[in-house]
Amino acid sequence: MKFELPKLPYSYDALEPFIDAKTMEIHHSKHHNTYVTKLNEALEKFPELQNKTIEELLMDLDSVPEIIRTAVRNHGGGHYNHSLFWQVMAPFGSARGKPAPEILALKEEFNKVAAGIFGSGWVWIIKDATDNLSIMTTPNQDTPLASGKKPVLGLDVWEHAYYLKYQNRRPEYIEAWWGVVNWDFVRGLLNR
Ligand code: MN
Repeated sequence: MKFELPKLPYSYDALEPFIDAKTMEIHHSKHHNTYVTKLNEALEKFPELQNKTIEELLMDLDSVPEIIRTAVRNHGGGHYNHSLFWQVMAPFGSARGKPAPEILALKEEFNKVAAGIFGSGWVWIIKDATDNLSIMTTPNQDTPLASGKKPVLGLDVWEHAYYLKYQNRRPEYIEAWWGVVNWDFVRGLLNR
Protein backbone atom coordinates (compact mmCIF):
# COMPACT_ATOMS: atom_id res chain seq x y z
CA MET A 1 0.00 0.00 0.00
CA LYS A 2 1.26 3.43 -0.86
CA PHE A 3 1.52 6.29 1.54
CA GLU A 4 -0.90 9.10 0.83
CA LEU A 5 -0.98 12.82 1.39
CA PRO A 6 -3.49 13.32 4.22
CA LYS A 7 -6.26 15.84 3.71
CA LEU A 8 -5.88 18.99 5.78
CA PRO A 9 -8.44 19.05 8.62
CA TYR A 10 -9.31 22.66 7.62
CA SER A 11 -9.12 24.89 4.55
CA TYR A 12 -5.92 26.57 3.37
CA ASP A 13 -7.10 29.96 4.59
CA ALA A 14 -8.39 28.70 7.96
CA LEU A 15 -5.29 29.71 9.90
CA GLU A 16 -5.25 33.32 8.64
CA PRO A 17 -3.92 35.74 9.71
CA PHE A 18 -1.46 33.67 11.77
CA ILE A 19 -0.44 31.43 8.88
CA ASP A 20 -1.38 32.68 5.41
CA ALA A 21 -3.33 30.67 2.86
CA LYS A 22 -0.65 30.71 0.16
CA THR A 23 1.96 29.32 2.55
CA MET A 24 -0.44 26.60 3.69
CA GLU A 25 -1.31 25.64 0.12
CA ILE A 26 2.31 25.39 -1.04
CA HIS A 27 3.41 23.73 2.19
CA HIS A 28 0.75 21.03 2.00
CA SER A 29 0.18 20.47 -1.74
CA LYS A 30 3.81 20.88 -2.82
CA HIS A 31 6.27 20.29 0.03
CA HIS A 32 4.39 17.58 1.92
CA ASN A 33 3.20 16.00 -1.30
CA THR A 34 6.79 15.72 -2.54
CA TYR A 35 7.84 13.93 0.66
CA VAL A 36 5.05 11.40 0.14
CA THR A 37 5.92 10.87 -3.54
CA LYS A 38 9.61 10.37 -2.84
CA LEU A 39 8.92 8.07 0.11
CA ASN A 40 6.77 5.88 -2.15
CA GLU A 41 9.46 5.90 -4.84
CA ALA A 42 12.06 4.78 -2.29
CA LEU A 43 9.83 1.91 -1.11
CA GLU A 44 8.83 0.78 -4.60
CA LYS A 45 11.25 -2.15 -4.72
CA PHE A 46 10.64 -3.14 -1.09
CA PRO A 47 7.02 -4.33 -0.84
CA GLU A 48 7.60 -5.80 2.64
CA LEU A 49 8.33 -2.30 3.95
CA GLN A 50 5.15 -0.92 2.41
CA ASN A 51 3.09 -2.82 4.99
CA LYS A 52 4.71 -0.96 7.86
CA THR A 53 3.34 2.23 9.31
CA ILE A 54 5.36 5.39 8.95
CA GLU A 55 6.03 5.28 12.70
CA GLU A 56 7.36 1.71 12.46
CA LEU A 57 9.71 2.68 9.64
CA LEU A 58 11.09 5.72 11.44
CA MET A 59 11.45 4.09 14.86
CA ASP A 60 13.64 1.39 13.34
CA LEU A 61 15.61 3.01 10.53
CA ASP A 62 18.41 0.49 11.06
CA SER A 63 16.16 -2.21 9.65
CA VAL A 64 15.60 -0.22 6.45
CA PRO A 65 17.98 -1.31 3.67
CA GLU A 66 20.95 1.03 3.47
CA ILE A 67 20.32 1.93 -0.15
CA ILE A 68 17.03 3.68 0.75
CA ARG A 69 17.70 4.55 4.40
CA THR A 70 18.51 8.22 3.81
CA ALA A 71 15.47 8.62 1.54
CA VAL A 72 13.17 7.04 4.15
CA ARG A 73 14.73 9.15 6.89
CA ASN A 74 14.28 12.40 4.93
CA HIS A 75 11.05 11.84 3.02
CA GLY A 76 9.42 9.49 5.50
CA GLY A 77 10.39 11.94 8.23
CA GLY A 78 8.94 14.78 6.19
CA HIS A 79 5.69 12.85 5.76
CA TYR A 80 5.42 12.01 9.46
CA ASN A 81 6.40 15.48 10.72
CA HIS A 82 3.98 17.32 8.46
CA SER A 83 1.10 14.91 9.09
CA LEU A 84 1.49 15.70 12.79
CA PHE A 85 2.03 19.42 12.21
CA TRP A 86 -1.34 19.87 10.43
CA GLN A 87 -3.12 18.26 13.36
CA VAL A 88 -1.28 20.28 15.97
CA MET A 89 -2.94 23.37 14.49
CA ALA A 90 -6.57 24.48 14.32
CA PRO A 91 -8.25 27.74 13.35
CA PHE A 92 -8.15 30.51 15.92
CA GLY A 93 -11.54 30.81 17.58
CA SER A 94 -12.52 27.21 16.79
CA ALA A 95 -13.20 24.67 19.52
CA ARG A 96 -9.61 23.70 20.11
CA GLY A 97 -9.58 23.41 23.90
CA LYS A 98 -7.78 25.17 26.71
CA PRO A 99 -3.99 25.62 26.75
CA ALA A 100 -2.18 22.93 28.73
CA PRO A 101 -0.32 24.63 31.62
CA GLU A 102 2.54 22.12 31.54
CA ILE A 103 3.16 23.08 27.89
CA LEU A 104 2.81 26.82 28.49
CA ALA A 105 5.46 26.50 31.20
CA LEU A 106 7.90 25.55 28.45
CA LYS A 107 6.77 28.18 25.94
CA GLU A 108 9.43 30.81 26.57
CA GLU A 109 12.27 28.32 26.31
CA PHE A 110 10.62 26.66 23.30
CA ASN A 111 10.44 30.00 21.48
CA LYS A 112 14.05 30.77 22.24
CA VAL A 113 15.20 27.38 20.99
CA ALA A 114 12.99 27.63 17.87
CA ALA A 115 14.36 31.07 17.01
CA GLY A 116 17.91 29.78 17.42
CA ILE A 117 17.79 26.72 15.16
CA PHE A 118 20.42 27.25 12.48
CA GLY A 119 19.20 26.24 9.04
CA SER A 120 16.19 23.96 8.57
CA GLY A 121 14.61 21.87 11.25
CA TRP A 122 11.95 21.36 13.87
CA VAL A 123 11.48 22.12 17.53
CA TRP A 124 9.46 19.70 19.65
CA ILE A 125 8.04 19.15 23.06
CA ILE A 126 8.52 15.47 23.71
CA LYS A 127 7.55 13.00 26.38
CA ASP A 128 10.12 10.48 27.55
CA ALA A 129 9.58 6.99 28.95
CA THR A 130 8.93 8.38 32.45
CA ASP A 131 6.43 10.96 31.17
CA ASN A 132 8.80 13.91 31.63
CA LEU A 133 8.30 16.75 29.15
CA SER A 134 11.25 18.43 27.50
CA ILE A 135 12.22 20.44 24.45
CA MET A 136 14.21 18.92 21.62
CA THR A 137 15.23 19.98 18.14
CA THR A 138 15.79 17.89 15.03
CA PRO A 139 17.65 18.98 11.91
CA ASN A 140 16.10 18.69 8.44
CA GLN A 141 13.21 16.17 8.57
CA ASP A 142 14.57 14.01 11.37
CA THR A 143 11.93 12.94 13.87
CA PRO A 144 11.86 12.44 17.64
CA LEU A 145 10.68 8.87 16.91
CA ALA A 146 14.11 7.93 15.60
CA SER A 147 15.53 8.48 19.10
CA GLY A 148 12.62 6.81 20.88
CA LYS A 149 10.83 10.01 21.92
CA LYS A 150 7.12 10.74 21.63
CA PRO A 151 6.27 14.19 20.31
CA VAL A 152 3.34 16.05 21.86
CA LEU A 153 3.92 19.28 19.93
CA GLY A 154 6.07 20.20 16.94
CA LEU A 155 6.87 23.38 15.07
CA ASP A 156 8.28 23.53 11.56
CA VAL A 157 10.93 26.25 11.34
CA TRP A 158 12.00 25.57 7.75
CA GLU A 159 11.81 28.85 5.83
CA HIS A 160 9.12 27.34 3.56
CA ALA A 161 6.82 27.34 6.62
CA TYR A 162 6.82 31.11 7.09
CA TYR A 163 8.90 33.04 4.56
CA LEU A 164 6.08 34.38 2.33
CA LYS A 165 4.45 36.20 5.23
CA TYR A 166 7.21 36.68 7.80
CA GLN A 167 10.37 36.75 5.62
CA ASN A 168 13.34 36.76 8.02
CA ARG A 169 11.19 37.45 11.09
CA ARG A 170 11.10 33.89 12.39
CA PRO A 171 10.39 34.93 16.01
CA GLU A 172 7.16 36.64 14.85
CA TYR A 173 6.07 33.45 13.10
CA ILE A 174 6.81 31.40 16.21
CA GLU A 175 4.78 33.69 18.45
CA ALA A 176 1.89 33.85 15.95
CA TRP A 177 1.84 30.05 15.63
CA TRP A 178 0.89 29.67 19.30
CA GLY A 179 -2.37 31.37 18.35
CA VAL A 180 -3.43 28.34 16.30
CA VAL A 181 -2.28 25.46 18.49
CA ASN A 182 -4.95 22.77 18.71
CA TRP A 183 -4.90 22.18 22.47
CA ASP A 184 -7.41 19.34 22.38
CA PHE A 185 -5.17 17.42 20.02
CA VAL A 186 -2.02 18.21 22.01
CA ARG A 187 -3.71 17.12 25.23
CA GLY A 188 -4.57 13.84 23.56
CA LEU A 189 -0.88 13.25 22.84
CA LEU A 190 0.06 14.32 26.37
CA ASN A 191 -2.30 11.82 27.93
CA ARG A 192 -1.71 8.79 25.71
MN1 MN B 1 7.57 22.02 6.23
